[in-house]
Amino acid sequence: MLPPPSSDRLNLLGLTRAGLETYITELGSKPFRARQLLNWIYKRGEQRIEAMTDLSKQFRAELAQRAEVRTPEIAEVQHSEDGTRKWKLKADSGQAYEMVFIPESDRGTLCISSQVGCALDCSFCSTAQQGFNRNLTTAEIVGQVWLACRELAGAEGAVEAAAGRVITNVVLMGMGEPLANFRNVVPALKILLDDLGFDLSRRRVTLSTSGLVPQIYRLAEEVNVALAVSLHAPDDALRSELVPINRKHPIAELLEACWHYLDEQNGRSVTFEYVMLQGINDSVQQARALARLLQGHPAKINLIPFNPFPGTRYRRSAPEVISRFRDELLGRGLIATIRRTRGEDIDAACGQLAGRVVDRTTVRLGEKTFALVAS
Ligand code: SAH
Repeated sequence: MLPPPSSDRLNLLGLTRAGLETYITELGSKPFRARQLLNWIYKRGEQRIEAMTDLSKQFRAELAQRAEVRTPEIAEVQHSEDGTRKWKLKADSGQAYEMVFIPESDRGTLCISSQVGCALDCSFCSTAQQGFNRNLTTAEIVGQVWLACRELAGAEGAVEAAAGRVITNVVLMGMGEPLANFRNVVPALKILLDDLGFDLSRRRVTLSTSGLVPQIYRLAEEVNVALAVSLHAPDDALRSELVPINRKHPIAELLEACWHYLDEQNGRSVTFEYVMLQGINDSVQQARALARLLQGHPAKINLIPFNPFPGTRYRRSAPEVISRFRDELLGRGLIATIRRTRGEDIDAACGQLAGRVVDRTTVRLGEKTFALVAS
């Protein structure tokens, strides 16, 4: 499953604080050195081990032989007219995955990927059309944030962004299904939250899932981040068509898992994403059905105008239809917002990330795909 290493050295970006302490102890050094290393890597943005001058020369030399701080390599950068930036990052064998930075007046959001492609096959998503190749490693997930910090830090060179000045929010809403890559995503989230790591607050890190129910329960035991769920339909028949994993984990089970997550994590609310597809899921009756589903629960609904991509059969709902849908929800006491589309001119908007993926899933929609997804 792992990519051929571009270097034999261990990538320190893949280690949580605990992992780094263990590693350093194995090298025969004291665990407190982990703090110094984390400070260099995440607070000062230093990539060169030899420049970490409060570590002994000998230790630096030994460490540099075995380990490194390796970021993903950039294949291409695109700038949108609205300030959004998209980076295409190299995976192995000519493949690529993408990350997007979205600046707003009061925050800067980095949207990162968790897989090269996606196996879930949601019918309205461009990533799905490409199929699935592999999971990103923890180092590749953390490396996106580290790299974006460096790219956005400006002339000073210091990774001030790591202290939350440029990148204030990180969302796992890029390519892939994060909960299908649980084993690598969870340590990455821990590094994003760690005060010796990126030190982001748990409300500013959002994991978005298409609804892998067992993994939502597992997540509740492991880490505390904001949860977003791609709902997209108010009933199982339609949701199963749009988000095929619904056939395995229907809406009632999914919502149960969401409320459990909030209870366990003391969370305020779950955000439900709902893509607005003309004539498919955007009627007033469907808004009412959605309201009935979520009324009385700590839920926020984020309506996403559909972003088209080549070959899609869907169209975006008209603005007045989206507003009416929102008003119907608001009128029933729900919190509902319309997501502003950003970066559309560079294909950086929700559901438009495609990268370059060599599909390895042979059977789509069947049990085999689900087995692959849940590994
Ligand atoms: N796999 C995860 C993470 C992707 S997040 C998930 O499904 O939640 C990306 C968000 O954009 C999801 O809510 C997804 O359903 C939505 N999306 C996908 N394709 C889209 C499109 N073409 N237009 C608008 N939103 C889309």
